[in-house]
Amino acid sequence: MTRPLIGLVPLVDIGRQSLWMLPAYMDALERSGGAPVMLPLTSDAGVLERVVSACDGLLITGGQDVNPALYGRDRGLCGELCDGRDGMETPLFELALKRDIPVLGICRGMQFINVALGGTLYRDIPTEHPTPLCHRQSAPYDRPSHEVAIEAGSPLDALFGVRKLGVNSCHHQAVERLSDRLRAAARADDGLIEAFYMPSARFVLGVQWHPELSFAADECSRRIFAEFVGAAAR
Ligand code: MN
Repeated sequence: MTRPLIGLVPLVDIGRQSLWMLPAYMDALERSGGAPVMLPLTSDAGVLERVVSACDGLLITGGQDVNPALYGRDRGLCGELCDGRDGMETPLFELALKRDIPVLGICRGMQFINVALGGTLYRDIPTEHPTPLCHRQSAPYDRPSHEVAIEAGSPLDALFGVRKLGVNSCHHQAVERLSDRLRAAARADDGLIEAFYMPSARFVLGVQWHPELSFAADECSRRIFAEFVGAAAR
């Protein structure tokens, strides 16, 4: 089988004016049968069209907060923003939907997909959705921080075969209003949506946790990547 080409949205270090990548994303894709490639940071329609036409799947990585202006709010208690990623992911995701290629959104990537489809975010969980759960754990990041309940009948229900799953957690924002084009696939005990999917797409999955960091430690993390790469190969 030819390895499907998976484009990754680059990580952006604004202070160092640098694009970079965490090897965990690429290793997880490689070990799952994919051929990962980091994309350029651009909002140029012609470049993105060419890039998306070459890719069999897209991974929207973690990163800075999504600008709340995209869902009509002020900055509030947002952390660092990244205009480059907001400006790139908007047309990139649109092109991916048009071609109906598989998209996996992790952490910020998941939050961005919800915003792109008309949903909103809690800009700061501690102030906008106070919770006893620890959504912002410290290292080691391959260890679970809280549990999630898998929604019956969702793709993750079929994929995992378990209804409760311990996940790592490294986010201070979360889905507030879920886009009506998405369905929840997992929730934390405090009600936060920790995974969703898009029923009208072939494969659009968002996870709030970091399966790339628990890839070696957790079978369900490996299954997420296997399912994503397998969908991209078809
Ligand atoms: Mn969490």
